[in-house]
Amino acid sequence: MVIHHSIRTLFLGLLVLTLTACDPENVTDSATTAVDTSKTYHWKMVTTWPPGFPVLQEGAERFAQNIKNMSNGRLNIKVYAGGELIPPLQTFDAVSQGTVEMGHGSAYYWAGKVPEAQFFSTVPFGMTARGMNAWLYDGGGLELWREVYQPFHVIPFPLGNTGVQMGGWFNKEINSLDDIKGLKMRIPGLGGKVFAKAGGNPVLLAGSEVYTALERNTIDATEWIGPYHDQRLGLYRAAKHYYYPGWHEPGTVLELTINQRAWASLPKDLQAIISNAAMAENVRMLSEMEQKNMSALQELKERPKVKIHRFPDDVLAKLKMLTDETLAEEAAKNPEFKRIYEAYQAFRQQNDAWSDISENAYLAIEK
Ligand code: CA
Repeated sequence: MVIHHSIRTLFLGLLVLTLTACDPENVTDSATTAVDTSKTYHWKMVTTWPPGFPVLQEGAERFAQNIKNMSNGRLNIKVYAGGELIPPLQTFDAVSQGTVEMGHGSAYYWAGKVPEAQFFSTVPFGMTARGMNAWLYDGGGLELWREVYQPFHVIPFPLGNTGVQMGGWFNKEINSLDDIKGLKMRIPGLGGKVFAKAGGNPVLLAGSEVYTALERNTIDATEWIGPYHDQRLGLYRAAKHYYYPGWHEPGTVLELTINQRAWASLPKDLQAIISNAAMAENVRMLSEMEQKNMSALQELKERPKVKIHRFPDDVLAKLKMLTDETLAEEAAKNPEFKRIYEAYQAFRQQNDAWSDISENAYLAIEK
């Protein structure tokens, strides 16, 4: 019986190989027939998010589960939230050094090490999620991103997007640029640099400290993410003026990072599973953010004390001017930053021209 069974299996195996070899769609890559399906991989993934953080940490965990399901258990990824294995902001280094195989975060967290990485997460007045996906997947953005991470032996993939963020919570109205002068606001990165140029006082605070600082008036304002995460953090209890749009983070791309050597050790089918699972989760996280934000916005509107305002046009125009100034200064200091900035701008101009007569023109119609 056993012998018969083995012969039958061998025969079927040969038949499959023969059929595969005859299929013109499948002959290009000999590695697909040489897959050792008995080998299982156990990987670690670290993230920059707090344990259980909705959408972002949950999305990273769903991504790992999808890979396990699609690979029939051949690739098992154990996901650790920030601080569970290593501090959140050491994610990039841990992947780079191969301490772990994978990471999830956002490229602007490594701005101190790689300033031009910020273009692959978000920059003030930059592209929204649609433009970023078009640039990264089809406009040469991802190739540039891989070049930028190559010296660190890290391979990046887009894996999620926050959508357009909110401008933040303020303890007073912002009617002109004068109202920003001397204002202490938690606003990180390039947005913070622009805010400082406008006369504000940017403060760096971890997410866990934001609520208490605002509630105790240690800061006058804070940005966080969008209605859903902001409401969960209770920020509406600490300040009542909620401003839009999030000019400083118009569509923050989240990233999957993979150690180059770990990636190279995988058979082609598992590599394909990872890259397709990453693309699927990229869509899923954005759509989840959009749905949760629209529903939380409704709830916030019903809270009697919350006042939702748009930043005045002249404030936005001034912040935009100061953003251009800031980006030009960074580019003058760093040729790599300049190179990526120019590529980003070239794509962005085309994207704006097309968006003006497609999405923007359509959305401007009174409905
Ligand atoms: Ca933010």
